[in-house]
Amino acid sequence: MAQYIASIDQGTTSTRCMIFDKSGSVVSVDQKEHEQIFPRAGWVEHDGKEIWNNTREVIGGALSKANLNSKNIDAVGITNQRETAIVWDKNTGEPVYNAIVWQDTRTQKIVDELAQGDNDRYKARVGLPLATYFSGPKVRWILDNVEGARERAEAGDLLFGNTDAWVLWNLTGGAENGGVHVTDVTNASRTMLMDLSTLQWDEGIAGDMGIPMSMLPEIRSSSETYGECSAGVLDGVPVAGILGDQQAATFGQVCFEVGTAKNTYGTGNFMLLNTGEEQIPSENGLLTTVCYKIGDNKPIYALEGSIAVTGSLVQWMRDNLGIIKSAPEIEELANTVDDNGGAYFVPAFSGLFAPHWRSDARGALVGLTRFVNKGHLARAVLEATAFQTREVLDAMNADSGVPLKELRVDGGMVGNETLMQFQADILDVEVVRPKVAETTALGAAYAAGLAVGYWADEDDLRQNWGEDKRWTPSMDNDEREKQYRNWKKAVTKTLDWVDADVD
Ligand code: ADP
Repeated sequence: MAQYIASIDQGTTSTRCMIFDKSGSVVSVDQKEHEQIFPRAGWVEHDGKEIWNNTREVIGGALSKANLNSKNIDAVGITNQRETAIVWDKNTGEPVYNAIVWQDTRTQKIVDELAQGDNDRYKARVGLPLATYFSGPKVRWILDNVEGARERAEAGDLLFGNTDAWVLWNLTGGAENGGVHVTDVTNASRTMLMDLSTLQWDEGIAGDMGIPMSMLPEIRSSSETYGECSAGVLDGVPVAGILGDQQAATFGQVCFEVGTAKNTYGTGNFMLLNTGEEQIPSENGLLTTVCYKIGDNKPIYALEGSIAVTGSLVQWMRDNLGIIKSAPEIEELANTVDDNGGAYFVPAFSGLFAPHWRSDARGALVGLTRFVNKGHLARAVLEATAFQTREVLDAMNADSGVPLKELRVDGGMVGNETLMQFQADILDVEVVRPKVAETTALGAAYAAGLAVGYWADEDDLRQNWGEDKRWTPSMDNDEREKQYRNWKKAVTKTLDWVDADVD
């Protein structure tokens, strides 16, 4: 009987279950979107219960589409939207509040108080600047603002996790059957609470944030058996891999050598560069993070450039403006014109992440004249992704000292060929799309499969990677640099917007 590995991808917009075979090919997929809850400007929430229900549904859906049952699955891996914080009661399994999503900016005041004038206060220990992006301040907000939460947390009744820990705890039995409360090093490295060298929680920082240690999951490697699924969903199948989504995509792209990098184009964009066993502190606005840790092996670190808004700007154009009906339609609209007509769109909807880290920035569309039409706007929206990626690539090159020669890409936006060509042009680097574009789910499957011996080693995985398409730069250098200078000018127009008059 053929055996497979399942992967649960709990993403920002949807939850997927994918089943993979030994060659790394997708055997079946099921996917369900969940509600994006925007209670106020700057706030973004998800319903934890909805996410867990969707997870169960898509597991069942993926199995039945392939005509399989849990006996055909050797192991399951989890990958997830990182930083999104959920707090729940271990006795009832009920979340005490909606999950606060990574894009949410409500923790600005908490972050400013913690910083005491120095946003890099914890950077040497955790690799991250203080920013609303990370989980720790979100947990603090829940404990401060949900009635009774702090008392219940101090009594040891509440648990915290990113959505990996929430899904794992539920999969392995939840409140009734002793769900395991565990996370992996990559997720933990996004909380601002984990010491990057010891890979343990930093009690001092947790104390500063007022987070009881009893809420925190145990930190484990990215590839080992954490527990078994309980009856009902994937009955008895070991859960054997966890990687935050961006680290999973890096693993799925088999970026195992020092100096290899991938860029994922989803809701936001995330470029990760494998720096091996060395933690490189960034001097150019990047994050230092754990890339993966396979079982007892040493941890592998990465430099990361996180961009908050890329694909979600396309969604915004679809949902808030109604100019397009589906995300792929933007390409057709962009191709009705030759260029951006002078318009630049800086989508600083959640401030600006890498390499700027400016929470006082807000979005701006600049360079407008009566000449600009919706085709130009579509181009400006797509180009925003490419220009933001150029900023991150320049920072990577500066930090690592070795210019990147080619960039492996994946994620929902890489189906957009107009964008990919423009990306190669603006970076002056070859852009390569692999045959299996679902690298996030694949990476988590790889981590789980390695733990149970389904795949023997990294060489086994390397053989599965194949090139689908390559875009070569063809833009004149003067033109490239002129456009990039305009972009940088546009960025300056978004800064200093948030002040006492703007929440
Ligand atoms: P995530 O995993 O972050 O939820 P995905 O990798 O599934 O995201 O990518 C979805 C994103 O890609 C959406 O924000 C959507 O707007 C964008 N997208 C999908 N297809 C296209 C396309 N052809 N052109 C531009 N953007 C696209």
